[in-house]
Amino acid sequence: MTVAKQKVLIVGGGVIGCMTAWFLHRLGAEPIIVERGRVGQEASWAGAGILCPIQPWLYPDSFTRLIEHSLNMFETVQADIENLSGISTQWLKSGLLIPSFGDDEDVSKAMAWSKKFDWSFQHLNAEEAQQDTPLLSKNVQDALLWPDIAQVRNPRLLQALQQIMKQLSIPQLENSEVDTLLTKNNKVSGVALKGGERLDADAVLLAAGSWSGDLAKQWGIRLDVQPVKGQIALLKTKPKRLTRIVKHHSAYFVPRSDGRILVGASMELAGFERGTTTHEIEKLLQAVEYLMPDLKDAEIEHQWMGFRPGSPDGMPYLGPVKSVSGLWVSSGHYRNGVALAPLSADLMSRWIVGEKPCLSDIDLNHFAIERQTHDLSVGYPCIDRV
Ligand SMILES: Cc1cc2nc3c(=O)[nH]c(=O)nc-3n(C[C@H](O)[C@H](O)[C@H](O)COP(=O)(O)OP(=O)(O)OC[C@H]3O[C@@H](n4cnc5c(N)ncnc54)[C@H](O)[C@@H]3O)c2cc1C
Repeated sequence: MTVAKQKVLIVGGGVIGCMTAWFLHRLGAEPIIVERGRVGQEASWAGAGILCPIQPWLYPDSFTRLIEHSLNMFETVQADIENLSGISTQWLKSGLLIPSFGDDEDVSKAMAWSKKFDWSFQHLNAEEAQQDTPLLSKNVQDALLWPDIAQVRNPRLLQALQQIMKQLSIPQLENSEVDTLLTKNNKVSGVALKGGERLDADAVLLAAGSWSGDLAKQWGIRLDVQPVKGQIALLKTKPKRLTRIVKHHSAYFVPRSDGRILVGASMELAGFERGTTTHEIEKLLQAVEYLMPDLKDAEIEHQWMGFRPGSPDGMPYLGPVKSVSGLWVSSGHYRNGVALAPLSADLMSRWIVGEKPCLSDIDLNHFAIERQTHDLSVGYPCIDRV
């Protein structure tokens, strides 16, 4: 007698949905991606691919524990991805440098945080920082280097995940917008698409990125996820001019192996307003001039934006929805969805197929859907409040 596979319908084909589909398949379930547009074209395409939180000291400690698990998994997961798909994600351990001009506290905060969580770092004086990264402004006074931080190239990662799903015959239903959650006796039975088509499922995973909050609300569930818009400019330069990821205040620079340098990113609570703006791109260029004046005339080859799925405390919502059996959420990954993807996919796929969550050193209640985030007086880490 064959046992029927558990059919799990995943709402949203971003990095979270796609990686979870792959992991569910490995556990013997039958995942199906249902995507409103095209797979991997929203935040997961737009992001910078830095595999580390930008200002981790702004988040609760439980977040650090969670992301450490994910980062520890990343090298193996990305090697599997490249082997299976034949596509390079351009995973690169470029290290991350946080320079200081003597007028900010980032370096001291980063050092204190690194010591607390035992992250390997080097404290460079002005001369050492200059030797390490000659493009830096001569006004830099010292810098902190996290040598183990890596990056990936998002569009390639998503392309590779799509390829793996294709090879495994995981259905990817594109141009299919999920509308209604179908339930029977308070248990999930599937979804209805805009247009009326009904899809049956044993379980539904809400992984619709920035749109998860509105969809959950439509289904009568409170989920504080809203879009935090990020704009990025891509500079065209010669290879190896910059080799480190560099971060200063809200700006960061990510060098790609072909010489392009990605400069990001704005942090805007601006609803779902698409498109880049002169004002925000100008601010990124000011950061270029301040931090790496020799790049100030570099050509902007491209500029784009994306919507980070923001949660008020900056932490993802992971787990079951207690009020509806068979409904699960993996969303609200904010600035860290790529870095958190392996852990989220591993945790959620095991949980959905009935295994006990395996993170004994983390209290998963910190990531519960029902946790109270809406009363936080300081919400959305890294967004300057005026
Ligand atoms: C500018 C920028 C820079 C970033 N930099 C980094 C970084 O350096 N490192 C890092 O780790 N993270 C970074 N992030 C964050 C990261 O990109 C996100 O956290 C992550 O991509 C979220 O993945 P997701 O799958 O939840 O969302 P998405 O990629 O947005 O995918 C959600 C999908 O759900 C679909 N959908 C929505 N509604 C429905 C519906 N009703 N029915 C069916 N489908 C639906 C959407 O079309 C979309 O494809 C950055 C993000 C941005 C925008």
